[in-house]
Amino acid sequence: MDAAVKRFPMPSVLRYPLLTRGGRYEPRVATGTRVRKGDVLAIGRWSPPVGYLHAATSGVVEMEATAMLLHPDGREDAAPPLSAKDLVERVRDAGIVGLGGAGYPTWLKLRQARNGDVRTLVVNAVECEPGVSADAALLREHAEEVSSGIEALANYIGNSRTIIAVGEGMDVPPDRLLSAPFVFLRGTDPRAPRARPNSPPMEQSSPVAGDSGGGFSMDGIPGVEVVRLTGPYPSGSERSLLARVLDVDLGKRIPTDVGVVVFNVATVFAVHRAWHCGERLVERVVTVDEENAWLRIGHPVEELPLSEGQVVVGGPVTGWIASEGEAVTKTTRAVTVNRPRAVSPCIRCGWCARACPEGLLPQELFRHINAGHRSETRGLRLADCVECGACDMACPSGLPLLATFRYGKSERREQERRARNAALAKARFTARAARLEQQRVEQQKEREARMASRRKWMYPG
Ligand code: SF4
Ligand code: SF4
Repeated sequence: MDAAVKRFPMPSVLRYPLLTRGGRYEPRVATGTRVRKGDVLAIGRWSPPVGYLHAATSGVVEMEATAMLLHPDGREDAAPPLSAKDLVERVRDAGIVGLGGAGYPTWLKLRQARNGDVRTLVVNAVECEPGVSADAALLREHAEEVSSGIEALANYIGNSRTIIAVGEGMDVPPDRLLSAPFVFLRGTDPRAPRARPNSPPMEQSSPVAGDSGGGFSMDGIPGVEVVRLTGPYPSGSERSLLARVLDVDLGKRIPTDVGVVVFNVATVFAVHRAWHCGERLVERVVTVDEENAWLRIGHPVEELPLSEGQVVVGGPVTGWIASEGEAVTKTTRAVTVNRPRAVSPCIRCGWCARACPEGLLPQELFRHINAGHRSETRGLRLADCVECGACDMACPSGLPLLATFRYGKSERREQERRARNAALAKARFTARAARLEQQRVEQQKEREARMASRRKWMYPG
């Protein structure tokens, strides 16, 4: 897995599904449009607005009912580089979203971080899902660019502390990560961060306490710490990361509520490319069946060199079975192959509960979802499942726990949507009935008034 990041040949066609898990892209081009690399193909306006989808190469567009195809012309004509002077605008124009998997718009997170009282920037390179090593490969080959991206982000946010959290198996020398000038921390550059009320003074960094198992400080570069996290999957999830690195229990809050902002390392690299090279996000490193490669967004999964087995989009734990026409998206970290496993009944060993980072009872959730006991799943906190798949990995019976929880959650969302619509319809019906009743009363009053005046006219005195 330590081999260099490959480049696969350009596929015969790039495919951009318009209907995604988050929402629907609005196309900005039509069949026959010739586009350059970096031209806007579509905009995702759903909440939160994910923004632009750019052409990953030059070619001709063809629209289908549910997807947009781009036929490469092999010329790689490119749109002019991005020119916005403000980092948030540049990141928004580049179409950067959280590349760790969440897909949250980075410009929105940056704006929230700058407007809130964020003091700590955490760069998440703790890629702990077995079989996925795209972040490690990126860090190994592009540590300087990552540190340049961190510099751009930290200058903008004005945080006083930066933590780079790397996984157990990442062999990147810390001095390479910290090779950028980090002028923001020395405070001698005109681009130094804005002074923040209540910000603690910048201090020499210190090893991070807790169970991080190997934090170390960088002498001479105050405020920046590189932390190596050891431990079981899923220590790289945002919640688990903050609990271990900063001893913060997020609960229902988001990191900016506790003065922290977290960016995935691939997102930081994309920020560097947008800020220093004016590039849009049109490719990313993806783990393809145990090797890493730069893939264009839109690369069809069926054109990847995969071994025999069930193709999974994502890691072997958190991924889903590839459907027809599936393609690499901005949040695709891996395309892996599942070897079939034997499934047997639950033996109530409790390993799933011990593996769950949220303290849930996966075996009970599994039983109640399959039995259709919806109220019980609420009591068992199905909504708190972060879909890490640790229970799935731990289960000796090979039960499809994660897939069942995803199904249970989507079913519940659908129920809630129906309940909301029913409540809305009822409210509309009640309001209409009240309106009609009021009209009837007013008409009655008018009629009585008319009758009274007519009686007065007919029988004066
Ligand atoms: S790990 Fe699997 S077999 Fe063991 S209790 Fe959980 S669901 Fe049942
Ligand atoms: S997938 Fe959900 S239930 Fe299973 S370990 Fe992760 S959080 Fe717990």
